[in-house]
Amino acid sequence: MAEVVLRDVSKIYADGTHAVRGLDLSIADGEFLVLVGPSGCGKTTALRMVAGLEEITSGEIRIGGRVVNDVPPRDRDVAMVFQSYALYPHLSVRENIAFGLRLRKLPKDEINRKVQEAAKILGLEEYLDRKPRNLSGGQRQRVAMGRAIVRKPQVFLMDEPLSNLDAKLRVQMRAEIARIQRRLGVTTIYVTHDQTEAMTLGDRVAVMKKGELQQVDAPQVLYDYPVNLFVAGFIGSPAMNLFEGRITTAGDGTYQLLAGSQRLLIEPKVFEARPALYAYLDRPVIVGLRPEDMEDASLVQAREGCTLTSTADLVEAMGSDVLVHFGIDAPKVVTDDTKELARDAGTDVLGALDERGHSVLVARFSPR
Ligand code: ATP
Repeated sequence: MAEVVLRDVSKIYADGTHAVRGLDLSIADGEFLVLVGPSGCGKTTALRMVAGLEEITSGEIRIGGRVVNDVPPRDRDVAMVFQSYALYPHLSVRENIAFGLRLRKLPKDEINRKVQEAAKILGLEEYLDRKPRNLSGGQRQRVAMGRAIVRKPQVFLMDEPLSNLDAKLRVQMRAEIARIQRRLGVTTIYVTHDQTEAMTLGDRVAVMKKGELQQVDAPQVLYDYPVNLFVAGFIGSPAMNLFEGRITTAGDGTYQLLAGSQRLLIEPKVFEARPALYAYLDRPVIVGLRPEDMEDASLVQAREGCTLTSTADLVEAMGSDVLVHFGIDAPKVVTDDTKELARDAGTDVLGALDERGHSVLVARFSPR
């Protein structure tokens, strides 16, 4: 069993930087855990401490039940894939993949077999005799993966392995990494600052901010039940709309959200689904609205009291989606369900939309 457990792990660098604070994380055997957060939040430091490349200041790290605090990297049975790939330029693909096995003095036949096997999994068979400089970025990334795979480690540690690839290749390799990890069933910790990568890859996602863990859970749970404003704003693209308001009772057992000059009815079932919401009645609150939970009122039967009225002040056409930015008084609200609006608007979307004057949105406050 290659469970990885971090207990109250902290890292203070020599210059006093407190990079990781009291990190508690358990990664189950075979699990794919993604560590995500903005630049400088301590995710690379956390990963390097698991790898043994960085000493921990306090706490405990266990891999497969064994405390590894004082175990050197090569004896931890982990394989790390770096953002830079760290390939040897003078060695062929075959030699790069075989490197770690040679160091361990495995028999030649066995090395050849393992390299061949990895090359097959990664689609690298025809490139085995090339040097890294004659490979594309994606192929280099595969070689780096190959080096990790052949060692059959207990744990894969990946530090932004896709960040040097262009957008299309990144999506392709992302799917491939997910497939390989599932096929091999190796416990994996994957660091990224890209929330889309985190959401699509992770069995669970751990969100960090300023060295501290904010929330760790399955992607959909983070999305639907963020524990704080940071997670709410960080997870989801386009980001959740956040604006100030107040929720009060509106008679007839219904509730209303008051935000600026807007009034929005909230059905009782929303409160029934989340009883914790009652505690926020009659207090200033910050309301989070996912863009996809809004609809263009001209396309649906808008129920009275369930519309936000505003003027679109920016339209971004993204192909499959169109993002329309509205202000609810001052704060911005973004929706992605406005294809009709954009079609009407033609090419000069901004100008055309302005001419329409007010556009009406319906916010669906549906309990998930
Ligand atoms: P990024 O996504 O930019 O790589 P990160 O979340 O991986 O960021 P870390 O690289 O872990 O963050 O850095 C966490 C904090 O520790 C940052 O404030 C960084 O400046 C600091 N830090 C990292 N390495 C060192 C070091 N060797 N000495 C001092 N401070 C460091």
